[in-house]
Amino acid sequence: MSDFLFKRMTLIGIGLLGSSIALAARQKGLVEHIAIHTRSQATLARAEELSLGDSYHKDVTDSVKDADLVIVCTPVGACEAVAKAIAPYLAEGAIVTDVGSVKASIIRQMQPYLPKTVHFIPGHPIAGTEQSGPDSGFAELFINRWCILTPPEGTDAAAVDKLAQFWTVLGSNVETMDANHHDHVLAITSHLPHLIAYNIVGTASDLEMVTNSEVIKYSAGGFRDSTRLAASDPTMWRDVFLHNKEATLEMLGRFTEDLTALQRAIRWGDGDTLYELFSRTRSIRRSIIDAGQEVDASDFGRHIVEGGETRAEQLKSDDHKDTGS
Ligand code: NAP
Repeated sequence: MSDFLFKRMTLIGIGLLGSSIALAARQKGLVEHIAIHTRSQATLARAEELSLGDSYHKDVTDSVKDADLVIVCTPVGACEAVAKAIAPYLAEGAIVTDVGSVKASIIRQMQPYLPKTVHFIPGHPIAGTEQSGPDSGFAELFINRWCILTPPEGTDAAAVDKLAQFWTVLGSNVETMDANHHDHVLAITSHLPHLIAYNIVGTASDLEMVTNSEVIKYSAGGFRDSTRLAASDPTMWRDVFLHNKEATLEMLGRFTEDLTALQRAIRWGDGDTLYELFSRTRSIRRSIIDAGQEVDASDFGRHIVEGGETRAEQLKSDDHKDTGS
């Protein structure tokens, strides 16, 4: 009997998420064979140069043959076409999952095509950075991060447990959730913050009274943090908003109302309202640090030595700082 949890894992799409899964699964000895397919020949060749897998497939149908775990790691908008293409070639009893940042749309896109003989369990590791492509992956991405599974009703419990075990060994805490609930939660914790970041950076670059060079020079005033989110992959985020439309618009409506209240408080010199809100938000940041989802250290982009650890080392890990998308 082998100790591998899965004999053959197929990764479809080998960007930040796919390559991180490949590296982590290999490091943990979770899978015997890693098969990789991606859209472009250039990315497939790069994955091979990086030795991310054991076999590399131009043809997606070829990649899934005999796989007992298939993980779709493409942008959300590509999942329907992938499901349609692989469905006839999936092995009986295989677990088919994904890592997309929205979940109800993934079920709508993929489920109709997948045979009843496979276990379809959508997933979303809440772990990421603003980097993309196969070079950006790292095995530690999932450690101490949540991974949400959204199995449709009636999914085989043993298959859900097996996939949960996979993510647990990669270092994640696993929770199962209804797909629509996931989309509402992530709309406020991830999708709206990215939308606001894209917008604030866009607004700054359009301003006429402040030059672009001033925006860059004085970015440490807060703008810099938004640029990290706003540097995230345009295709991935276009798809997130197009596929989580209702929940994002609902949260945006709430956000706009609250922003109007802040606008009023500033206009009327209502310092109490501003102070009360800013105190509440500060304590939310504290709770996130206490929950181990962020560290308290501030760096502000400076290359200084603190407590014997060089900032270069910290900045290296800063490159991998979570956008948690
Ligand atoms: P990424 O680095 O941009 O990689 C995407 C991969 O998908 C590439 O290998 C790309 O291949 C391939 N691909 C793109 N369009 C495709 C298509 N139409 N058909 C087949 N393959 C296609 O993206 P990522 O950051 O890994 O994100 C992948 C998924 O993870 C997304 O659904 C995203 O929502 C989710 N996610 C991302 C994060 C994050 O922070 N980045 C966090 C959690 C979840 P080519 O290079 O060959 O075109």
